[in-house]
Amino acid sequence: MDQIFQQRSDRIADKLEKESIPVEIKLEASDRLREIRSDQRHVLTQEGRETFVLQYLKGEADRFKADDETLADLDAETPRSRPLCTCPDSGCALKDGRLPAAFAEDKSLQRNIREFRHNHLGDPIVLNDAEEKLDEKVERVMSVYDIVLIALSNKCSVSEVEATHTGDDADEPESDSDTEPTASAEAD
Ligand SMILES: [Zn+2]
Repeated sequence: MDQIFQQRSDRIADKLEKESIPVEIKLEASDRLREIRSDQRHVLTQEGRETFVLQYLKGEADRFKADDETLADLDAETPRSRPLCTCPDSGCALKDGRLPAAFAEDKSLQRNIREFRHNHLGDPIVLNDAEEKLDEKVERVMSVYDIVLIALSNKCSVSEVEATHTGDDADEPESDSDTEPTASAEAD
């Protein structure tokens, strides 16, 4: 996954350097990328993904135990009503807002989650929720990358591309057929 993100963000960075693409399009693309910066931080690296999941587990555990008084401090509107995990173990890490000790450092987060779900004596609901939120973030970042790439490749406005690509990523930005008529201006 890291590689896919890296490739796309490299391609975007390349395009943002191209003098043949109008400045206003590049600015719009940069603005759009800025909007997903916090999501990017959570999806681009394994460390970021773990940080997000850990923060989510902790936040949800706090929300689950919260009463009216403590809720305001958590910046949450409602307590969590669904259980964190359905296992009988009172020492379950998920119920305490921690990553399970069984998570191995040399495995991907996805794999750790999958194995934990398989081996745990209960439904790790809060972990499933965290994974779902993470997937949403990944999708959001990917779709902005795609849209920005299409816009930069076609030298058209990002909002225009967004309007025509509603949701499904039907057409991938293909290898750009950027004809560079001002090739001499590109030389540095
Ligand atoms: Zn459990």
